[in-house]
Amino acid sequence: MNPILLKATTKTLIWGTEQWGISAHPNGDDEVLNEEYSGKSLSTLWKENPELFGNTKGDRFPLLTKIIDAHADLSIQVHPNDEYAAENENGSLGKTECWYIMDAKPGTTIVIGHNAKNKDEVKSMIENGRWTDFIREVPVHKGDFFFIEPGTVHAIKGGTVILETQQSSDITYRVYDYDRLQDGKPRQLHVKQSIDVINAPYVQKNPPLDDSKVIGDVKQLVSCDFFTVWHGTVNGELEINQNQPFMLCSVIEGSCNLDNQNFEKGDHFILPNNYGKAIFKGNAEMIFSCGSKFEFSGAIKAL
Ligand code: ZN
Repeated sequence: MNPILLKATTKTLIWGTEQWGISAHPNGDDEVLNEEYSGKSLSTLWKENPELFGNTKGDRFPLLTKIIDAHADLSIQVHPNDEYAAENENGSLGKTECWYIMDAKPGTTIVIGHNAKNKDEVKSMIENGRWTDFIREVPVHKGDFFFIEPGTVHAIKGGTVILETQQSSDITYRVYDYDRLQDGKPRQLHVKQSIDVINAPYVQKNPPLDDSKVIGDVKQLVSCDFFTVWHGTVNGELEINQNQPFMLCSVIEGSCNLDNQNFEKGDHFILPNNYGKAIFKGNAEMIFSCGSKFEFSGAIKAL
């Protein structure tokens, strides 16, 4: 089976752009470019050709890969977990996400976590607009990696480009939007939902790197209940063994060739069920991800 090639969905927002590189979410369902599946979206392919995805159980393609290019600051926000989203958002998935920093202007920060001691303080700081006291900012550099659990207050700031791997969900609760206007009006805030879902106190879990999982030119970035994400460097040649139901691949720097197909920075594709030996040739940086905790661990080999 060939790699599944996708046409990214691009969205222009008040603060920059989002490229939904691998998405079957109804708010940005990518078109499949392979001739044999022409006209299908990724969500249709998931339903009609389950063999490509190892007949993985589930009513929807579970992951979403985005590239976020932030020119201005994103709102201070938080996402629900699966239980809260299922109950309050029409059966949506919750949103666990992680960020690989592709670029950051010198001196840039991001918001991750908050300084409130408990839920009551979360509520009072938000209701009284004590944003400087509330939010926790950390410096950010190219190559950094962050894991954002549901309930974690976060924001990407202007001057940052990230690759985000997340559950296939589009539920964001805005806590604060810097009093900005869009078409003359402030964007909707979700203060009640935010207070409901924010974890307090914030417990720092970054960086989540496990150095023991470096195999040649491939390094595991995180493994959680929803996904495992790896960074790979193609320095001439990188061989991996794709023995999983499906593997999401993104080129985040340079270019490479796989089985006579060229891929460049910004290209995304899926290696279908048990693709087997994949030999990337060229000079590139890649992000790979798979759909669960146990299936991918240690499956990838570099020569
Ligand atoms: Zn987010």
